[in-house]
Amino acid sequence: MSFHYDITSSSLYQNALSQLEKAARTDAVDPNCIERLKKPKRAIQVSVPIRLDDGTVKTFEGYRVQHNMTLGPGKGGIRFHPQVDLSETAALAMLMTFKCSLVGLPLGGAKGGVRVDATQLSRQELQGLTRRYTTEIGPFIGPDVDVPAPDIGSDGQTMAWFMDTYSQVKGYSIPGVVTGKPIVIGGSLGRRDSTGKGVAFCIQFAMKYLNKKFDENTKVAIHGFGKVAIPAANDLIEMGAKIVAVSDVSGAIYNEKGLDIERITKFTKSRRLLSEYDGDCDLISNEDLLALDVDILIPAAIDGVITEKNADKVKAKIIAEGANGPCTKEAVAILQDKGAFIIPDILCNAGGVIVSYFEWVQGLQHFFWDLEQINTKLHEILKAAFDEVVFNKDKLDSDMKTAAMVTSIKRLSKAMRLRGMWP
Ligand code: GLU
Repeated sequence: MSFHYDITSSSLYQNALSQLEKAARTDAVDPNCIERLKKPKRAIQVSVPIRLDDGTVKTFEGYRVQHNMTLGPGKGGIRFHPQVDLSETAALAMLMTFKCSLVGLPLGGAKGGVRVDATQLSRQELQGLTRRYTTEIGPFIGPDVDVPAPDIGSDGQTMAWFMDTYSQVKGYSIPGVVTGKPIVIGGSLGRRDSTGKGVAFCIQFAMKYLNKKFDENTKVAIHGFGKVAIPAANDLIEMGAKIVAVSDVSGAIYNEKGLDIERITKFTKSRRLLSEYDGDCDLISNEDLLALDVDILIPAAIDGVITEKNADKVKAKIIAEGANGPCTKEAVAILQDKGAFIIPDILCNAGGVIVSYFEWVQGLQHFFWDLEQINTKLHEILKAAFDEVVFNKDKLDSDMKTAAMVTSIKRLSKAMRLRGMWP
């Protein structure tokens, strides 16, 4: 009996591949490099057995995929989610390669995860899971090899357990092994809010590029209300926009005059669902949120939210991909046909990995920067990347998604050619 697992089988992988192939068709990129980028360099599957609070043992499946490491050590988050599988992790690792290259970081692309519903585990069980997963992938990671970070279902505490486990085994503290750590153990100022801040910066650049101004009529709907959505919402309010809708798994809340984001944030911090929120707003469905008559839509929760089934109903003219892969390839085609301006995920949500890079550098040097320096550098890097993408979009008479891929692959393929293929 033979067994063959097709790592390209998930729809997220197929979406990433089709973006790569579309970029390849522009002739601006080397076909040999495209061929090498279609599959990950290395994919690791591990078993993560933990003792539950009731004394029984349960085993979870874990992964770490290193897609490409030409530009530097692997970089990418660790996802704790029931949908995690090898193909999805590989797709997300590929997106990390493109993201790091696009914004010019000396880092490759990787991603990891455990197939688990972390909300069903106690704190003790979650700690056990994180520590066991760390030791299982331990031989394949390190500050010069591959540097994990938070993603869906993981946070600063997860990174603290991860860093502690890795350091305990080595016998001394190694802060550079992960990013997204709490400040007191070597985290960076600004890392927690950096992905959302980057989303807001990119929207600001897009508004300027499209000759639009923020005012009290600029309406924003955000699909999601977590680590990316909350800081993005706060920054957009400061820029003059109005957040009219946000959502979570239980549904969405909507007020066309604008929501009280501060109050809603406090409410959700106590682990309560938006459907129970009693403020001045209507409860609508997540699908209704995507179809609202707004200027800006930010899908900031998970992949595959805007598809060929609902893309036609989207009215927003700016779509800022806060999550990784929130629009399927069919949805991208429909949205672009309707004239929407898409800020691609590998640019839009790159703020997180940019400040992760700052954290990694600070950890290696044991020298820490102030918040202003971090946010100024974040803005500089994203602005340069945005300008390069729109330059290539206009030059190739292409769309934002393709232009972002071409920009990224051009840098990467230059490095791949210079280093050569060996053995
Ligand atoms: N998980 C985040 C992402 O998808 C951050 C990765 C990192 O900081 O390494 O970009």
